[in-house]
Amino acid sequence: MRQKRYILEEKEIPEKWYNIQADMKTKPMPLLNPQTRQPMRAEDLFPVFCEECSRQELNTTDSWIEIPEKVREMYTYYRSTPLVRAYGLEEALDTPAHIYFKNESVSPVGSHKLNSALAQAYYAKEEGLTNVTTETGAGQWGTALSYAARLFGLEAAVYQVKISYEQKPYRRSMMQVFGAQVTPSPSMSTRAGKDILTDCPTHQGSLGTAISEAVELARMTPGCKYTLGSVMSHVSLHQTIIGLEAEKQMEMAGEYPDVVVACFGGGSNFGGITFPFMRHTILEGRKTRYIAAEPASCPKLTKGKFEYDFGDEAGYTPLLPMFTLGHKFKPANIHAGGLRYHGAGVIVSQLLKDGLMEAADIRQLDSFEAGCLFAKAEGIVPAPESCHAIRATIDEALKCRESGEKKVILFNLTGHGMMDMSAYDQYLAGNLINYTI
Ligand SMILES: *Cc1c(COP(=O)(O)O)cnc(C)c1O
Repeated sequence: MRQKRYILEEKEIPEKWYNIQADMKTKPMPLLNPQTRQPMRAEDLFPVFCEECSRQELNTTDSWIEIPEKVREMYTYYRSTPLVRAYGLEEALDTPAHIYFKNESVSPVGSHKLNSALAQAYYAKEEGLTNVTTETGAGQWGTALSYAARLFGLEAAVYQVKISYEQKPYRRSMMQVFGAQVTPSPSMSTRAGKDILTDCPTHQGSLGTAISEAVELARMTPGCKYTLGSVMSHVSLHQTIIGLEAEKQMEMAGEYPDVVVACFGGGSNFGGITFPFMRHTILEGRKTRYIAAEPASCPKLTKGKFEYDFGDEAGYTPLLPMFTLGHKFKPANIHAGGLRYHGAGVIVSQLLKDGLMEAADIRQLDSFEAGCLFAKAEGIVPAPESCHAIRATIDEALKCRESGEKKVILFNLTGHGMMDMSAYDQYLAGNLINYTI
């Protein structure tokens, strides 16, 4: 019988994360202090981020970083995640391409976000903190952090983008089940929130605004630090567990990818699945293509500018050298909440500039069409974010059908869509539209 799924034994789960910054020929430009425009050192990040995460953020020398034993132990609760050969999808597309996906949707919270939440909660606890705070869009990151905080005995306060708080009540309940305090953002509980609401009382919220609120809370509360589920370099570091496992699993399948595809919000799952393969491109010149699938309504990689910008709307974060649509950019209310962010992480921004990766813009209706096709073929209803990666994968596989090429395509299935069925409802009812800028 042909093999469908590849799973690693627990003892095969990687013991180190891969830090691509150490191997990059052009290092990312420094983060700048917005007041002085001086490069920030790790210590300068301590007031907001955990100390260990701050050090990891700026580490450009160590290619490999030890995964703490406790974090690795928590990884075994759901890892390795399966690498799956998408025979069903290949047949549906009648393509000679071999399609594989890494199924991160099997994590207890339903997405890849837990890979970094566990690490960040662990380091917060080790540092002697009692509280962590964060923002969340669709709720995946907030849910992951709420669960991870519970495991390590920390209190979590989550600012959830208001439109998602209303559209996705079950993610909110999930965070509350794990014991987190959830506040819709913008809220009157912070200065940043108050300023925005005074300006625009009907503001639907954005990730940028919610970040401002969470950072402000962390700064004002002793024993509390801020955590971020994407964009930052230490987050993609933690996510490399995905690609490192996938590399071993592809080896079990006797294949190596020609194309690696991931959806793109701030870049953490993209970095997570691609960096371990890109290592071979940088060090050995292996010719693999890396495609970031972003929404056409929030196209920072194809239509953004590479410049210093804030990571949040209020301008509380350091200045980051990134591809950005501007920190005041208000993305359309697409259902892929996790992709509604104005900028790209500093590592991926540099990689795009250096031509090591490419980007594809995906329209909302095309993403849901791809998601439904995948669901019928493979039995998994994907998260609206993941549908973008599936669309880009299908487009590549269809090109193979034209050319007859037998390419090996690997994509990351970041999450399942079981909490997003109202989005599918609306798609099926014909109520969704495409947005572009
Ligand atoms: C958050 C999220 C994304 C996008 O975030 P990245 O940091 O770009 O990976 C994609 N898919 C799901 C399911 C998410 O929760």
